[in-house]
Amino acid sequence: MSQAQPLEAGSRHDLRVGISPDAPDENVFKDDAKGAFGYCHSYETSSRYDGPGLRLVLFVSGCLLRCTYCHNPDTWHLKDGTYVSAQQVLDRLASFASPIRALGGGLTISGGEPMVQLAFTKRIFAGAKEMGLHTAIETSGFLGERADESYLSVVDLILLDIKSSNPDTYRKVTGRDLAPTLRFAERLASMGKPAWVRFTLVPGQTDDPANVEGIAKFVAPMKNVEWVEIQPFHQMGGFKWKAMNLEYKCADTPTPTPELVKRVMEQFRAAGCRVR
Ligand code: SF4
Repeated sequence: MSQAQPLEAGSRHDLRVGISPDAPDENVFKDDAKGAFGYCHSYETSSRYDGPGLRLVLFVSGCLLRCTYCHNPDTWHLKDGTYVSAQQVLDRLASFASPIRALGGGLTISGGEPMVQLAFTKRIFAGAKEMGLHTAIETSGFLGERADESYLSVVDLILLDIKSSNPDTYRKVTGRDLAPTLRFAERLASMGKPAWVRFTLVPGQTDDPANVEGIAKFVAPMKNVEWVEIQPFHQMGGFKWKAMNLEYKCADTPTPTPELVKRVMEQFRAAGCRVR
C-alpha cells in the first residue's frame, strides 16, 4: 500500500470495513515509513468525554484484544481502516487547533489500540505538541511495554482502560493476559504520569463486587490517577457485530441500572478513588 486515501471525518459509531484489503496483519507491528503512514477508522471533532476540554479524537485501526462488549470491532484489523499519511491528520488537526486550544482541549488518539501503530501515533502526537496542543491516548495498556520514554514524552495524559482485576475474568472478557496492563499502570504511577482509569461496567461480566474492589484497591494508592471513570456498557456497537457476522456475546446484556452504577461508584469512592 503506497497511495494515501482521503481522510474522512465521521464518528466512532460508523461501520467501516474492508477499506484497505492489502494492509498487513495488526500482529506484525509494521509501521510504514517510520510512521509517515497508517490506518485510521475515523475522527470526531467535538468530543468532551475523551480528555479535558474540547477534543479532536482520532480512532486508529488495529487491536489485539477481542473484548466481548467492544463497541468498535471494525477497528480490530488494519485492513478495515483507511490508509492515510500522518501529515494529512496533522493538516486536519491544524485547522481545528485554534478553537481546541481556546477551549482547553487537545488531541486524543483512541481506537482500536493506538500502540499497535506506534511510530504513526507518535508522529501525530509529536506534531500536535508542536501546535501547542494537549495530547491524550486511550489504551488498554496491553502493549504498554512498546511505549518507551520518548513515546510517553509526547503524551500528556493516559486514559487507561482496566477491564478487570481478575486474570481469569480479564482473559474471558478480552481474550488476553491482564499482567501487561497492570505493569503499565505501575510504570505510569512510578513516573507520576497523569492518568485517568476507565472501567467499562458490563452487567454479568465485570460487575462482580470482588472484581470492582480489586481494581479500586489497585488504583487508589496511585497518585498519578486523577480520575476513575465508569463507562456503562451500551448496545450502540451491537449492529457492527451483526453486520460483520461476528458472534456477539452481549446481544442480551442490558445496560447497567442506576443502582448498579451507584454501587460501583461507591466501591471506588470507599477505596479512596476520585470517581465519576
Ligand atoms: S481494547 Fe477497545 S478496541 Fe480493542 S477489543 Fe477491547 S474495547 Fe475493542
